[in-house]
Amino acid sequence: VELPADTDSSNRRRQVHDAAFSSVTPRVPTAPRLLHVAPDVAELIGLSADDVDSKEFLETFSGARVPDGARPYAMCYGGHQFGNWAGQLGDGRAINLAEVSHAGKRWTLQLKGAGETPYSRTADGLAVLRSSLREHLCSEAMHHLGVPTTRSLSLITTGDSVTRDVMYDGNPANEPGAVVCRVAASFIRFGNFQIFASRGDLDSLRRLTDYTIKHYFPTIEAGDDRYSRFFAEVARRTIDMVIDWQRVGFVHGVMNTDNMSIHGETIDYGPYGWLEGYDQDWTPNTTDAGQGRYRFGNQPQIVFWNLVQLANAIYPLTEDAEPLQDALNQAVQQYEHSYDVMLGSKIGLDNVGEGDSAMLAELESTLQLTETDMTIFFRCLARVPANHSLDGGSEFLAPVMGAFYQPEELVGETLQRWRSWFERYLHRLSQTTVTDEERAKRMNLVNPKYVLRNYMAQLAIDKAGSGDPSLIGELYEMLRHPYDEQTDNEQWFAKRPDWARHKVGCSM
Ligand code: AMP
Ligand code: MG
Ligand code: MG
Repeated sequence: VELPADTDSSNRRRQVHDAAFSSVTPRVPTAPRLLHVAPDVAELIGLSADDVDSKEFLETFSGARVPDGARPYAMCYGGHQFGNWAGQLGDGRAINLAEVSHAGKRWTLQLKGAGETPYSRTADGLAVLRSSLREHLCSEAMHHLGVPTTRSLSLITTGDSVTRDVMYDGNPANEPGAVVCRVAASFIRFGNFQIFASRGDLDSLRRLTDYTIKHYFPTIEAGDDRYSRFFAEVARRTIDMVIDWQRVGFVHGVMNTDNMSIHGETIDYGPYGWLEGYDQDWTPNTTDAGQGRYRFGNQPQIVFWNLVQLANAIYPLTEDAEPLQDALNQAVQQYEHSYDVMLGSKIGLDNVGEGDSAMLAELESTLQLTETDMTIFFRCLARVPANHSLDGGSEFLAPVMGAFYQPEELVGETLQRWRSWFERYLHRLSQTTVTDEERAKRMNLVNPKYVLRNYMAQLAIDKAGSGDPSLIGELYEMLRHPYDEQTDNEQWFAKRPDWARHKVGCSM
């Protein structure tokens, strides 16, 4: 075994030293029931439709049966939670069931909610239907939006109930338990490196890093600079990921260093949410609402902060801070350029120059003047022709009017700010040669029409809770083609209904 293994194989909660993982056994559920499978993910790992329909599938992906030859394990990691070092965390309710190879790729299959592990600390290792459904649907929605993410194969209820403090009244309640099977190349996080560095366990740190490079970053060749090159590659991918989050209006909610994948993939869907009104200060995480550390507009900053923690963890292997510092500086530059390119693409510019930054920044501040639905605004902006007239009162806003939650606020200064932004925008368009039609087509490839609005997931949860899982499949199918015009799904291309206004995501 290349990775240092824990020699104790019990599920007893404990501090685990000198080991990257501990062997565990998933919990056997009482009455597993399959609510949904993502066929794309089944195909990815080589399962046919018949396989998915089988009893083995239900047993395997609910935790009832360990596949032949598999040795399930939970990983040891640490992390900074809300900026503070939290020591050992680890897979408290996730179990890596098996690794499979298919079509030249290697995948790790991970059950989330399949019972306690040595890392469960004071919690139960279980997951409830609402959080599992949210993770299952959102990971697949993100993938189809083109955002790097862990995938989700299946959503299975266990038939067991799980006790949780329900947020609205604070009283414990029983909820249906569920298990999701997540799929990714690996689930190695920044925190896996941090735990060894924090304990001064350089031998394990080196073995983990060498293992990660060998299996998941094979283009990095052996050499003295391999650790800093590995870091630079992680940084590059992570920046790309966060720019995609900002593009689609995704707010992760808990960007602790233990929730940062080494692959630059979105991982650990907890209290995440989607922007409805464009708001840099919004976070779906009620426990973070005061500080707003993980608010929408702060996500790129937090990525850098987290990358600094990873650099610190790797530093003992390089003993030379300079290449790590260079990689961080490079990442900042990459971000600054790519962010403007991304925002430019959302308004139909195929390149951005020096002069565009101010206009793009003005768009962002104007979007915040009155509550403006991000998804609807950018999607509808594609209807504005280059020769659009700014005459009259607020008529020039007609193509995007459906995006405003309080259209009556579009007067005075606010209206003036919009008119002046559109003047700059139309002037900029006049310098391009692309046709209105072609520009609209390009914009519709980066501005989704359908995202998993918070209330949509909630509707699917409520229905599934009352015994009808059909909305999961309907939303899943729609979210598989988020950039397409779908005439049957127009009702989901709409502002959030009033009843859902202050709904937030939920964790656990
Ligand atoms: P999170 O903030 O959800 O990423 O979780 C932080 C840490 O708490 C990780 O080590 C998780 O494995 C652990 N954890 C979260 N929920 C549970 C649970 N229900 N049972 C056991 N461990 C949990
Ligand atoms: Mg986590
Ligand atoms: Mg979580």
